[in-house]
Amino acid sequence: MKIKRSGSSFNSLNSKRKLESVFLFTTGKCNAKCAMCFYANDMEQKAPDLTFEEIKKLSESAGRFNRLWLSGGEPTMREDMPEIVEMFYKNNHIKDINFPSNGIKNDLLIGWLKRIRRNCPDCNVSISISLDGFGSTHDTQRGIPSFYQAVRALKLIDDNFRDDGKVIKNIATVITKYNVEEILDFTAWVYGRFNVSTHTIEAARGVTREDGVKVLTEESLRKIQDAVAPYYMLYANRIGEGMSGLSRLITKYFYVGLMRAMYNIRASNLDKPTPWNMDCTAGETTLVLDYDGRFRACELRPPIGTVQEYNYDVQAIMQSEAMKKEIEAIGHGYKANCWCTHGCWIMSSITFNPGKMLSLIHKSYRETKKLCKPVGIDESILRELEEKYKLDTQKLAEIGIIPQVFKAGAA
Ligand code: SF4
Ligand code: SF4
Repeated sequence: MKIKRSGSSFNSLNSKRKLESVFLFTTGKCNAKCAMCFYANDMEQKAPDLTFEEIKKLSESAGRFNRLWLSGGEPTMREDMPEIVEMFYKNNHIKDINFPSNGIKNDLLIGWLKRIRRNCPDCNVSISISLDGFGSTHDTQRGIPSFYQAVRALKLIDDNFRDDGKVIKNIATVITKYNVEEILDFTAWVYGRFNVSTHTIEAARGVTREDGVKVLTEESLRKIQDAVAPYYMLYANRIGEGMSGLSRLITKYFYVGLMRAMYNIRASNLDKPTPWNMDCTAGETTLVLDYDGRFRACELRPPIGTVQEYNYDVQAIMQSEAMKKEIEAIGHGYKANCWCTHGCWIMSSITFNPGKMLSLIHKSYRETKKLCKPVGIDESILRELEEKYKLDTQKLAEIGIIPQVFKAGAA
């Protein structure tokens, strides 16, 4: 039976600013060593993770909010993650969970997703697997051989949640010097081989583990974004499959418009900070909790206190002088002092600026339509890409991503 997606916080657009999203860095541990990791320095501190009891106090004081973004470190490195999610579901009535993973512990991940779906039935779960390029490119960027594990994670997610509209399947790719040359081929291959709702691409951000991995400029990023624009129409069609005519059209319009709007804002902030033409609502609608209890208004600004100082009281943190000063420092509108390329905050801020959102979506949808041209991806093109980038087709066949490979001489 198909389970329909419903109750997303995004549907309840609201200009009234209140805590909407908590970004919880659940652990400072990770089983990868990504060249572009912006959290590597923080994880290097090797401070202890907040305990379950400490997180429980935070959850109990936070009141209702809609979205829980899990982060880290790698979320699967924390054993009590499903209990943490269930606690927020029960205490805070969250409607959306965003669960990123590098896919290395794929069996564990599937078990957790099943459990979360069973115990948090009204919650939409957006699972985002990091896949940065073909085979060895992905492995080099991630600092550990993990391409086929991530591919297996995607296959298992599709096998287990294909008909579950509450599990939204995504692939996230960060563009660096390692994958920039193959990103267009990779975009085509990802669309052709994986049944995901979207594939986000973004430039490396923040202070990266390895120097010199950020190679994009506004101009080169815009070129890539324009080239991949047709895929967003295709993903929109995929998301709209099974919907009635009008719902399908509205979904397509919003999805395509929002993706392009976010990409435009990102690109204009790559070379230099540029106003988003709307407020960034960091610190008003979002709270970032680091794995060790430091807190921030957003992932890219420095910590402004610790939860321990506020006795783990989220309401007290949101109303604190430290947060008020931080919001003032960020500023508002054209007079703001702080702009960046961070998609999560761009999206979050768009929903709290509804007037701006509608005009942005309309303009961005029309832009994408103009960029659209037919995309011909068939089995022979996918096979050519697998050969060109020397993928192990036997392994892909074993995972079930491609049909069994015919071996010459086999009966
Ligand atoms: S980017 Fe994510 S997966 Fe990679 S090292 Fe950093 S925390 Fe780990
Ligand atoms: S613009 Fe970016 S860096 Fe500045 S407060 Fe908003 S999310 Fe944070």
